[in-house]
Amino acid sequence: MISAKCPTCGKALSPATDPAALPFCTSRCKQIDLGRWLKEGYAIPGRPLEEDEESDESPIERDLDEE
Ligand SMILES: [Zn+2]
Repeated sequence: MISAKCPTCGKALSPATDPAALPFCTSRCKQIDLGRWLKEGYAIPGRPLEEDEESDESPIERDLDEE
């Protein structure tokens, strides 16, 4: 059994998980994580983030919980 969890949403990976999306549960989670890293990369240290208005977790988790 696969006991790994998706780094993006924390959902347990299943044997049906798309191999191309690993180690994420879906390609969508992969893109979300990639986008998060890029966003952090663009953030300049010492400068307050001004685009942090929208929640970056709740909508995603709620969406993915729909099985
Ligand atoms: Zn996921």
